[in-house]
Amino acid sequence: MKPAKRVLELPPYIFKEIDNRKNALKQRGVALLNFGIGDPDLPTPDFVVEELCKQASKSENQKYPSYNGSDVFREAVCKYMLARFGVKLDSVSQAASVIGTKEGLAHFSWAFLEEGDIALVPDPSFPVYANSVRFSGAEVYYMPLLESNNFVPDLNAIPDEIAVRAKVMFVNYPNNPTGAVATKEQMQKIVDWANARDVILVSDAAYAELVYNKDDRRSFLSIPGSEKCVVEFHSFSKTFNMTGWRLGFVVGNPDLIGGFVKLKTNIDSGVFDAIQLAGVKALEYLSVCADELMSVYRERKNLLSSVLKEAGIDSFDPSGAFYLMARCPKGVTAMQFTIDLMEKCGVITTPCTGFGKSGEGYIRFALTQPLDVIERLREHLVKLGYK
Ligand code: PLP
Repeated sequence: MKPAKRVLELPPYIFKEIDNRKNALKQRGVALLNFGIGDPDLPTPDFVVEELCKQASKSENQKYPSYNGSDVFREAVCKYMLARFGVKLDSVSQAASVIGTKEGLAHFSWAFLEEGDIALVPDPSFPVYANSVRFSGAEVYYMPLLESNNFVPDLNAIPDEIAVRAKVMFVNYPNNPTGAVATKEQMQKIVDWANARDVILVSDAAYAELVYNKDDRRSFLSIPGSEKCVVEFHSFSKTFNMTGWRLGFVVGNPDLIGGFVKLKTNIDSGVFDAIQLAGVKALEYLSVCADELMSVYRERKNLLSSVLKEAGIDSFDPSGAFYLMARCPKGVTAMQFTIDLMEKCGVITTPCTGFGKSGEGYIRFALTQPLDVIERLREHLVKLGYK
């Protein structure tokens, strides 16, 4: 029995080949150093786990949750947006829970896109944007994120005939996989461009708290004009090492939130109340958690970039998120470099072509390994012989 066309037409999953090779090496007993997955090695803070246990045992939290998140959760989220970004929101109409930003982003496309529409998608980017656009029947127009433009889309390069049909633009800062952040001026230009063309701006702020310089912590919702066109997705996954919990939220324009929640009401039944309450607790101690986390990632990125440099591999100093993007040696493709690192050195990375064509020439290291593993990388890379 064949799956539906929308599934058959999904682009080939290049991570599958990496997985197959990785499993073959594992079976041969090769010790692998895994910098592939963007899944934190650090645990969820104890106080958040304790709150979950406490709340999970209460019968009032064991029922169906509300579709758009509990009042307490939405109020906490709005308090966070005000304290952290100076963004004032109405917790009833401008905030909703999501089962992780991945779910939220995918369903947002479904709620707002249809055949005939175009969505502007950064290249490289998190594959969910483009795939959810295709599921909705709309077309993808890729906006290359180039080194020469600090990995921010060049809006002047979008042809007029595309711009008039564009309904949605996705943006993601701090950025996966480049580690770039957007400046206030760049964000303002994007918001102005979207407003002038009636385009919905979907900001994926999954890494909003993961910046190496506090001045780079920004929300598109703090940009003048954003109230008309922006929805922003935030996640607990990376800020609090809660990837398995599936908790995030969306905030922004009430009509956009309303349309999104209407779709979701017909698909899922919200997030377990005990998880939402643990999320509320996490937000109370956000500042301490984020500072501690970023001091860990800062040490890791500094060590990793110097280890790579010794091996003759150039990398970009990230401003945010927890990845280090490295340049492939001249004449070596991202896929070939990834395979070489895996098969010659036992080092797992991600080719940035997995995130789009413009990722060619780059690979991504996730900073989700402790310093001693990064130190061990030094010996492994000797076998590469690119220097
Ligand atoms: N957005 C980006 C850019 C990501 O890299 C990821 C996960 O790696 C997500 C969203 C998904 O996060 P969540 O766990 O909140 O679904």
